[in-house]
Amino acid sequence: EVILEVKDLGKTYDSPQGQTTALRNIEFKVHRREFVCVIGPSGCGKSTLIRILAGLESHTAGEVLLDGKPVEGPGPDRGMVFQGYTLFPWLSVKQNVMFGPEMNGRGKLEAEREALQWIDLVGLSKFVDAYPHQLSGGMKQRVAIARALANQPRILLMDEPFGALDAQTRCKMQAHLLEIWKNIDITVFFITHDLDEAIFLADRILVLKAHPGEVQEIIEVPVPRP
Ligand code: ADP
Ligand code: ADP
Repeated sequence: EVILEVKDLGKTYDSPQGQTTALRNIEFKVHRREFVCVIGPSGCGKSTLIRILAGLESHTAGEVLLDGKPVEGPGPDRGMVFQGYTLFPWLSVKQNVMFGPEMNGRGKLEAEREALQWIDLVGLSKFVDAYPHQLSGGMKQRVAIARALANQPRILLMDEPFGALDAQTRCKMQAHLLEIWKNIDITVFFITHDLDEAIFLADRILVLKAHPGEVQEIIEVPVPRP
């Protein structure tokens, strides 16, 4: 079952200095329950790609289909986790995770019940009433993952989520994310510039290649999971 299909995708930015082609001829499919990583050097268009998938950026060529429907703007069918901790600092862990379900029309009790389950899944049951500033970097990213999953998205879009963590925490979080991924029905699309991280996590790695100039290519590499 194909969840995400990207067809001949292109993105050219216009700026006063001229045009920058960030993505060209990008084609790939992501299947349900796959863990796909995207790697590539700085400036090759990784963030542009994931922002387009998230609906936070428009594309200038091609198509992005989620469950066969063109992506237009952000939606609860895509959960996002960024490198920076984008938690609401004035809300507790529980309130941060409840926020999405409540916005999507769940009653307060139902949203709370679901939030507690997601918080349990990421191992933070003891911290439901803590505030973000009381948590370590790894713990904050766990909350961010719980919050993204709480909307029950079709796909989890992660943009260098562990990039700001120290090496040891990063390692723990990689293992933790794989555990979560194995236990629930979720498809993951994960950007990193770290090949080791991609090899550890991914079923499939898309390699974005920076040519001289701004032209990009994409190569699919099958990787056996360790
Ligand atoms: P990566 O995430 O792989 O580092 P980006 O997607 O951030 O790559 O950038 C790809 C290219 O697009 C770069 O040449 C960058 O300078 C350019 N770019 C990114 N965002 C913008 C923007 N808002 N306006 C103009 N050019 C941009
Ligand atoms: P992580 O790998 O999730 O970032 P840490 O290595 O920072 O976790 O912390 C390991 C454990 O120590 C956590 O699971 C938590 O139980 C506890 N801990 C970390 N930071 C705090 C804190 N600010 N307050 C209370 N307990 C903490």
